Amino acid sequence: MKALVKKEAAEGLWLEDVPEPKPGINDVLIKVDRTAICGTDMHIWNWDAWAQKTIPVPMIVGHEFVGEIVEVGSNVNDFRAGQLVSGEGHVVCGRCRNCMAGRRHLCADTSGIGVNRPGAFAEYVVLPMANVWEHRPDIDRDVAAIFDPFGNAVHTALSFPLLGEDVLITGAGPIGIMAVAVCRHAGARHVVITDVNPDRLKLAENMGATRGIDVRTESISEVQAQLGMKEGFDVGLEMSGNPSAFRDLLKAMCHGGKIAMLGIPPEDVAIDWNTVIFNMLTIKGIYGREMYESWYKMSVMVESGLDLTPIITHRLHYTEFEHGFAEMKSGKAGKVILNWLD
Ligand code: NAD
Ligand code: ZN
Repeated sequence: MKALVKKEAAEGLWLEDVPEPKPGINDVLIKVDRTAICGTDMHIWNWDAWAQKTIPVPMIVGHEFVGEIVEVGSNVNDFRAGQLVSGEGHVVCGRCRNCMAGRRHLCADTSGIGVNRPGAFAEYVVLPMANVWEHRPDIDRDVAAIFDPFGNAVHTALSFPLLGEDVLITGAGPIGIMAVAVCRHAGARHVVITDVNPDRLKLAENMGATRGIDVRTESISEVQAQLGMKEGFDVGLEMSGNPSAFRDLLKAMCHGGKIAMLGIPPEDVAIDWNTVIFNMLTIKGIYGREMYESWYKMSVMVESGLDLTPIITHRLHYTEFEHGFAEMKSGKAGKVILNWLD
């Protein structure tokens, strides 16, 4: 089969012929229909310091996908050929304290598909049955292909109650923009989002943001005053990984404000801890998706009208992957879909 492989410890990916994977007794074999490119795949393409210490070479990459089950292992009773599915990319150990308690997203020993086990940028992918998420057959397949990052947005945004609250999101990348739609759907009042990229801020406004703020030319406090907000934001979602964005966020929170942090800073970040202490802020770190409450909420929100399609800016054939990665690198793209059928 064809697959996008990190073949050598160097920049880039290679389209290779590799053997089709064989499902074990607890696995399903999925014929991949569509995939999407994630920031993680960009790190792997660029072969940065994180990728060099994390990715064993050679490795089939990719973890955002939708496809159809074609075969199931002999222990698998709950899935059958023909079902339309995506997969939770974090494979948990099942035996640690948190796994045993049913808090699988807190597993201390996860492995990741397309990171340290074979991924989904391929014609076929094998997944443990515990990682399979079934879609309704009529779901938009491009939307189904981005459930993984949508789940990051949902996990982060739904960390704290949103009904009637004012939300500040720092970072209008694909995940920040999807979080805008989630906050709107969940009944927030103002959803304000910051970035340094006007194209992405426009996209965020199209997805329901009250205001996009280009922090190079406008301050959060000005917008807050324009919106008549006296006491700061109730909920903050850090989705940029940028240290100064995080510092902006801390300053803009109301007393007792709640912050969920998804963005991954490249290095240590210094903050004014007095703001956290005297304003009694709560800061929660977010990794991955809740298994499977985030997935359940995603399916339900899509069914009840949340529309993610504006975030999908490119639909390409997998043989055009170099173009897709270049578009992602340009910072102009939302989500880039690669089609693996014919
Ligand atoms: P992205 O890199 O596409 O988006 C980040 C955005 O932040 C960009 O649009 C960038 O222009 C913007 N930005 C840069 N400087 C800024 C500033 N000073 N103020 C406001 N915005 C600024 O990333 P993404 O794919 O949307 O992911 C968002 C973040 O979440 C990334 O840091 C990513 O690494 C992280 N992430 C974490 C997890 C997890 O499990 N914790 C999972 C996926 C992604
Ligand atoms: Zn575990």
